[in-house]
Amino acid sequence: MEPQTPVGKLFMVGPIYAKRLAKLGIQTAEDFIYHFPFRYDDYSLVSPISRVQPGETVTIKAEVLSVKNEYTKHGKKLQKAQVSDGTKTIEVVWFNQPFLVKTIKVGEWYNFSGKADWFARQVVIVSPEYEKLPISNTIHTGRLVPVYPETYGISSKWLRSRIAPLLNLVVPKIPDFLPEEMKLKYHLPNLGQALQKIHFPESKKEAEEAKARLAFDELFLIQLASLKRKGDWQKKSLANKFYVDQEKILNFLNNLPFQLTSAQRRCVREILADLALEKPMNRLLEGDVGSGKTVVAAIAIYAAYLNGFKSALMAPTEILASQHFQTLSQLLSSFGVKISLVTSSKKPKDKEPTPDVWVGTHALLYQKLDFGNLSLVIIDEQHRFGVEQRAKLAKSGEAPHVLTMTATPIPRTIALTLYGDLDLSVIDEMPPGRMKVKTWVVPPVKREAAYEWIRKHVKNTDEQAFIVCPLIEESETLKSVKAVTVELEGLSKKVFPDLRLGLLHGRLKSKEKDEVVEKFRQGNLDILVSTPVVEVGIDIPQATIMMIEAAERFGLAQLHQLRGRVGRGKKESYCLLFTETPIGRPLQRLKAMEKSHIGMELAEIDFKIRGPGEIYGTAQHGFPDLRVASFTDLELIQKTRQAAEETVGKLSKFPVLQEKLKQFTQASIAPN
Ligand code: ADP
Ligand code: MG
Repeated sequence: MEPQTPVGKLFMVGPIYAKRLAKLGIQTAEDFIYHFPFRYDDYSLVSPISRVQPGETVTIKAEVLSVKNEYTKHGKKLQKAQVSDGTKTIEVVWFNQPFLVKTIKVGEWYNFSGKADWFARQVVIVSPEYEKLPISNTIHTGRLVPVYPETYGISSKWLRSRIAPLLNLVVPKIPDFLPEEMKLKYHLPNLGQALQKIHFPESKKEAEEAKARLAFDELFLIQLASLKRKGDWQKKSLANKFYVDQEKILNFLNNLPFQLTSAQRRCVREILADLALEKPMNRLLEGDVGSGKTVVAAIAIYAAYLNGFKSALMAPTEILASQHFQTLSQLLSSFGVKISLVTSSKKPKDKEPTPDVWVGTHALLYQKLDFGNLSLVIIDEQHRFGVEQRAKLAKSGEAPHVLTMTATPIPRTIALTLYGDLDLSVIDEMPPGRMKVKTWVVPPVKREAAYEWIRKHVKNTDEQAFIVCPLIEESETLKSVKAVTVELEGLSKKVFPDLRLGLLHGRLKSKEKDEVVEKFRQGNLDILVSTPVVEVGIDIPQATIMMIEAAERFGLAQLHQLRGRVGRGKKESYCLLFTETPIGRPLQRLKAMEKSHIGMELAEIDFKIRGPGEIYGTAQHGFPDLRVASFTDLELIQKTRQAAEETVGKLSKFPVLQEKLKQFTQASIAPN
């Protein structure tokens, strides 16, 4: 058996379970080993039955005297066993597991691990884990017992029984990629030891040591990869050297219909300084929706144009691409800059003169376009593809300047960890006069009233509303599309039969998308019902209401981005967060939306509670999924950063690490 053996071929797995495991991201034997517990049940206290105290979590070793099913008054099934270890007899109780009377055999000895508690006026062991004796190494009882992330049809018990026999077979074949000197310096155990102990530690201390090593690995590899990318990028020579014509650029700024904010001016300075250098720029421009990133990008494009160089701007969706096209046309056309939009439905005609700027989705790069002297590339909202695209752009060894833009508020520490290869510019200020979007969390009892309120605002007025339904699964699957379609039907039949509703989701053909967005833009729809695709898209100034269904399913940063779709005109705008959980911590999270209007602040709040994967959705933004480490662990981030800096220059000395890094880099940029 090898680390790469598919799980379907493992002992006692088979195709049905392989399919379920795939939902947990487990495809190979190695993935199985890397499926770590998120906590342990402490069943290490082994006690004679005579000593068992109510309230205590214990393991008893006992012989089964009897076992039977019973019905409660409420018709539920109860399983009761009498067990004894010679010191005393005690009752063991389970609920709704009728098959137990067949698996547990009278006259045999078992470990029972669970909580002792009062039940029907006597002390019993409630719903314990059990394991037949004799056995050399217990995995479910009598020790620290791992509890795993589960999925439908896959329990922790099942996982334990499959992972345990794999450990000895597979772990020795997983190479330890950390150099010896590093393990010594940072007091880290061997990988093999860590992989064994994270599943079945003898003590909490062992579990901690294993975690320390595996957490180190995660943050170390991320930072090593980004430092390596940085080094590789800086070795490229610049495709075309820029001359930055300050005077003409100033003239351009003076002709804008507004003054740049001081944050925009700072970012423009940083970018122009990069453009003037002999090495290719690799910068991340971060700023809330509406903070004015596109204008900043336009200035860089203009600087390229003044040199006679071409630029390309790539957006994640066609809607967004056509919006950028419009914005750039407004800003740049009067200065003679020719801009062309390329989408899957609109390719440039042969006779068209080559433009100065190409705008399109990331597919742009894969089209046979005459990029001539492409010297500036702007990538919007695509962290994962950004890495891949930069690699593609620089294949020939000559690289253009690259500017990546994002409205995702990434806390600085994460940005520096994940994108250590990028220089960072932040627009942390909104243009003056922006109104805050009034935000309310709407509990179930107020739903009807809220619908009525929306009707009053949009019926026969020039105001419009978005209604956003969450994705059911991580990406826009047919299931999500169905959910939003059902929602639309319900709304247009029962709630808003008197209004004009439209439907938008990612599975529509791009022509259909354009049509519905255009209809909404023209005011021929009152409400646009949508999946979160609107998050990264449309700019419709007369839309004043953003209503979000099941808001608790979104991260705060994501909600903030959705909210940024309204409040773009002159009218007071509103965000209604519908939630089915009227109490507790999820509600507290949502309440933060009522108070804060700063994306970065909201991201920090969520980041502390839920971690970055949850905030942004790992797939969309290419955030690695950390299993053990945490982006809030600043000490470890620093330590691993240092280790990565020490190593990146002498990778060739460590071939195993080099190979691991290669695999890691491939896995982290592969589209799923
Ligand atoms: P982003 O790309 O960050 O979402 P945009 O560049 O699209 O933001 O700008 C949003 C809107 O604000 C546009 O209509 C733009 O013309 C306008 N805008 C940008 N910067 C300023 C500014 N400094 N003052 C006033 N309006 C601005
Ligand atoms: Mg924009």
